[in-house]
Amino acid sequence: TGEPDGILVRTSEEYAPGLENSARINATLLALVRNEELDGMLQAMRDLERTWNHKFNYPWTFFNDVPFSDEFKKKTQEVTKAKCNYELIPDEHWKMPSWINMDLFDESVQMLKEQDIQYADKVSYHQMCRWNSGMFYKHPALANTQYYWRVEPKVHFFCDVDYDVFRYMQDNNKTYGFTINLYDAPQSIPTLWPETLKFLAEHDGYVHENNALDWLTDKTRRPEHNNRANGYSTCHFWSNFEIGDMNFWRSKVYEDYFNHLDRAGGFFYERWGDAPVHSIALGLFEDSSRIHWFRDIGYQHIPFFNCPNSPKCKGCVTGRLTDGASFLHREDCRPNWFKYVGMG
Ligand code: GDP
Ligand code: MN
Repeated sequence: TGEPDGILVRTSEEYAPGLENSARINATLLALVRNEELDGMLQAMRDLERTWNHKFNYPWTFFNDVPFSDEFKKKTQEVTKAKCNYELIPDEHWKMPSWINMDLFDESVQMLKEQDIQYADKVSYHQMCRWNSGMFYKHPALANTQYYWRVEPKVHFFCDVDYDVFRYMQDNNKTYGFTINLYDAPQSIPTLWPETLKFLAEHDGYVHENNALDWLTDKTRRPEHNNRANGYSTCHFWSNFEIGDMNFWRSKVYEDYFNHLDRAGGFFYERWGDAPVHSIALGLFEDSSRIHWFRDIGYQHIPFFNCPNSPKCKGCVTGRLTDGASFLHREDCRPNWFKYVGMG
């Protein structure tokens, strides 16, 4: 894997402003989740509260396309001292846009299924990817919030983190933080890169001079991925974990890009994920030095881990990317990120 084995993680010592004088900044923990996923959500919350949030008490904001049940609200609030907010997603942010042709959608689903694309026939999965790509930060409940940490049900956090990661983002002028960086299934995004190139041709000056284009277009390590994705390496930040500054998503550049993609229809005719969409936007439009690898946050979303070499971490194996099948190791794209952009 790309893990720098043997390097003891020191980020928290390097960055440890006194807890006592660190007032909370403008941020929330954020989860899109279904009522049925309550147990998994409680487990993820307990992990993050134990390792980090009980020291800072950042609020949680939960989003759902249907109202949260009383049980969901009661049980989630019980595992944190922080304030919990429960928000309904407005129809206009969730429902399929009017320009999507249902016959074409049905045909596309059949094709995607033949190519073994998971969830291709679940409309709600397409809706979820679109919402995470270009809608969540537009919810009125977040209008006055700048930073977010995305948390999914059932994920794990392994390491005690003693500093305020949101303050770290702000003080170090970071836009986006990730833990895991992977290759994607090219069959889910055949026209995402071609649409992106069309967009760039229409918008001079949008690409940042210190971009991560080499990471986005690498074809040395997995040329077949690049071919099938028509020029995109498929490398992406695994977005079930993200710590980000919503001002980036709210910028004109990103809004124009998202609208272009949304009109092109690939959230439904293909199965574009929010991970490649966010990653391409960050790699093109942001200064790559503002993207941070949180090497010190031990994390798992099945089947992948980020597991630092540190006595602060318990419950994961140092450096291990996966405890799944061994072929999963080739899914790691961190070596490319380190090669082209650096360790940060
Ligand atoms: P995977 O990680 O790609 O397998 O997808 P998940 O099933 O974990 O979905 C990603 C996130 O979106 C999780 O936090 C889910 O709880 C949430 N999610 C997915 N579909 C829906 C939905 O239809 N409604 C709601 N409220 N949440 C959803
Ligand atoms: Mn998930």
